[in-house]
Amino acid sequence: MDGSAVARALLGEVRRAVALLRERGIAPQLSVLLVGDDPASQVYVRHKIKTCLETGIDSDQHLLSAATPAAEVYRLLEKLSHDPDIYGVLLQLPVPDHVDSIRAIDAIAADHDVDGFHPANLGRLMAWRGTVEPCTPRGVMTLLRAYEVPCRGKRAVVIGRSIGVGRPMAQMLVRADATVTVCHRHTVDLRREVESADIVVVATGVPHLVKGAWIKDGAVVVDVGITRNEEGGLVGDVEFDAAYGRAALVTPVPGGVGPMTVATLMENTVRAACARHGLRIDQRGVRALEEA
Ligand code: NAD
Repeated sequence: MDGSAVARALLGEVRRAVALLRERGIAPQLSVLLVGDDPASQVYVRHKIKTCLETGIDSDQHLLSAATPAAEVYRLLEKLSHDPDIYGVLLQLPVPDHVDSIRAIDAIAADHDVDGFHPANLGRLMAWRGTVEPCTPRGVMTLLRAYEVPCRGKRAVVIGRSIGVGRPMAQMLVRADATVTVCHRHTVDLRREVESADIVVVATGVPHLVKGAWIKDGAVVVDVGITRNEEGGLVGDVEFDAAYGRAALVTPVPGGVGPMTVATLMENTVRAACARHGLRIDQRGVRALEEA
């Protein structure tokens, strides 16, 4: 599955939506906050800002030193969340140890939380009433839809139960009518679980955890994991070459889920702007909710 191509198509839709919003005098803006100088996080932030530019979303970035007191980080997130010109606030994770990531996430108002990590947004996802949902699993669902992968009645196995990926992923697959098993580091027989799966989503950060030989013939495999190896290359959680021969569809790393995550962040920023103004956006354009 070519995540780069599907992400490009999604970004095209976002660009059109932003243009329609601008016609209504609404300029979506995303604020990105980075604490510290983690090189991988710096790359991610640069990429997000660049993608904002490509889609017509205004952006600003707040690059704080690793020594910034935690209280100052929470205060800035609260301030950005109350700025009427800003529609999305994103805190690049991870944060330095002295900053409590839970407090920081809670400092972002739910209606500005374009990562979808605020408990109110996760609750809405659980209630199947989500406006803004975590970018990576939502991006995976968009990818599955683009490749017309049926979820109804299928056995899906999600490996990893993080709040940002595994848990919301499982919820979205249940909503799509799959029968879902969630595996994690205490799962006793991972191989057996994978062998039974029609759809496998792996998000652990353990390189090549899932062996190609475990994949059922014709299964669909989504590899969320990204780890940098000693040569500086990126490695996924699945043995790609071996899985490629057995799976009907499999995502590469890089070029699979990564681009979908960033494109979905842009989609979420547009969705947050629409929600604030009571607008509905779809193929037919942007309309007030009551016109829909
Ligand atoms: P995390 O560390 O928060 O969670 C990892 C999960 O994997 C945990 O639930 C743990 O129980 C499980 N796990 C660890 N070892 C395991 C094992 N041996 N067997 C079964 N389960 C095991 O990580 P995360 O934030 O969910 O990220 C996971 C990976 O996905 C990382 O490589 C991360 O870089 C990547 N990621 C990629 C994107 C993207 O856009 N492509 C987005 C988010 C995360």
